[in-house]
Amino acid sequence: MGKTTDLTRREVIQGVAATAALTAAGQGVLAQDGRAWDTIVVGAGVFGAWTAWHLRRGGQRVLLLDASGPANARASSGGESRMTRTIYGADDVYTRMAWESLEDWRWLSSRSGLPVFHATGVLMFFGKREPFVDQSIDAHKRLGLRLDVLDRAEMQRRYPQIAWDGVEVGLFEPELGVLMARRAVQTLVKEYVAAGGEYRLASVAPPGDGATLDGVRTSADETLRAERYVFACGPWLPKVFPSLLGSRIFPTRQEVFFFAPESGDQRFAPPHLPGWADFNDGDIYYGMPDLEARGFKIAHDAHGERFDPDSGDRRATEAGLSKVRTYLAKRFPLLASRPLVESRVCQYENSANGDLVIDRHPKWPNVLIVGAGSGHGFKHGPAVGRYASDLVTGKRDKPEPRLTLASKGDVQHREVH
Ligand SMILES: Cc1cc2nc3c(=O)[nH]c(=O)nc-3n(C[C@H](O)[C@H](O)[C@H](O)COP(=O)(O)OP(=O)(O)OC[C@H]3O[C@@H](n4cnc5c(N)ncnc54)[C@H](O)[C@@H]3O)c2cc1C
Repeated sequence: MGKTTDLTRREVIQGVAATAALTAAGQGVLAQDGRAWDTIVVGAGVFGAWTAWHLRRGGQRVLLLDASGPANARASSGGESRMTRTIYGADDVYTRMAWESLEDWRWLSSRSGLPVFHATGVLMFFGKREPFVDQSIDAHKRLGLRLDVLDRAEMQRRYPQIAWDGVEVGLFEPELGVLMARRAVQTLVKEYVAAGGEYRLASVAPPGDGATLDGVRTSADETLRAERYVFACGPWLPKVFPSLLGSRIFPTRQEVFFFAPESGDQRFAPPHLPGWADFNDGDIYYGMPDLEARGFKIAHDAHGERFDPDSGDRRATEAGLSKVRTYLAKRFPLLASRPLVESRVCQYENSANGDLVIDRHPKWPNVLIVGAGSGHGFKHGPAVGRYASDLVTGKRDKPEPRLTLASKGDVQHREVH
């Protein structure tokens, strides 16, 4: 994947200048084909925003729409923080995507005032040396990426604030870390607009079932037309395309908790604690250090019940809190009784096995569907946006099989972690 260096930033600006009609006469100017935009992107979460950015960077006239605003409170990208890691077992398609995205995240971080990316490092630890561990090590060797294998004594030495009972091995990635999710998406949309892209707050009606798609209808009763359309509607995709995606994307309810360490206790803040995930015999818990004084974050990675992103109840449950406190007592005993300072309910939008979707609509070749982040998509945003943009512009002919709609089943059986 390409890199967003200072030079390419200059090229972006030159590219914008070259499309003089756009910048001089204002956005939405009709071209000879009678359309105002080359591509309309519906959904300004992490996937839609990076897709719009890459299309704009390629010189396209792009309109980005969102029903409730970039990284809004109900969007999957609307949370405080998201981990970025390259440890994916044998699924090195995601190792590559996460790694290739890192430079773009660093670039965005350099643009945002407050950081988008905190290089906290990421530690994953395991009760035993299971195949996932060796597959991850192999993938990192194959791709020439650094991955430190730590035994229990070393983890105990580095992180004495964690209780290491029952843990055999850890994988540590010093260069990865945590992304500030809402800030990232909102900064990117600002950058996209500054580079000549157009953004509007508008809800798009489900496109129906016609023979072609040559316009999208908004809640303001307008029809907006472009040559191509990208739908990156996250957990709303099953509502936008009910017959195609209603049984292929499963939004689930996920609870996230933040706890306040004791005042002045730095042991749970960077650099003393990295982002972490405990494989815990498959019953995964993960979390972030106390970043920007928001508290130590923890979540249980099991899929919750089915969830409606519009109307679902976003209050965390006592049962969820109690489960997390029980886990804390075992692994982070110093935090087990600390005050809860925030809780959030978000949703994963899972495909059957956890693979992302980046594919053309089966009936409408001018429509691309991007989504199914499945609880791990955020980190891949820059790479997904580039991939989607290449499919839109024809630079890439077709998606690889595991990203296609055809590969998506309708029974949940999670394989990607
Ligand atoms: C609790 C939690 C923890 C997670 N942790 C991680 C992590 O640590 N690392 C990681 O990499 N990933 C993580 N993820 C996954 C990641 O956040 C998601 O995969 C990603 O944010 C999905 O982005 P998206 O752009 O597909 O969807 P969204 O962010 O939901 O964006 C979709 C957008 O489309 C808009 N929209 C929908 N319908 C319409 C319409 N009809 N018209 C106009 N606009 C519309 C919505 O308003 C929304 O803004 C986590 C997710 C959750 C919920």
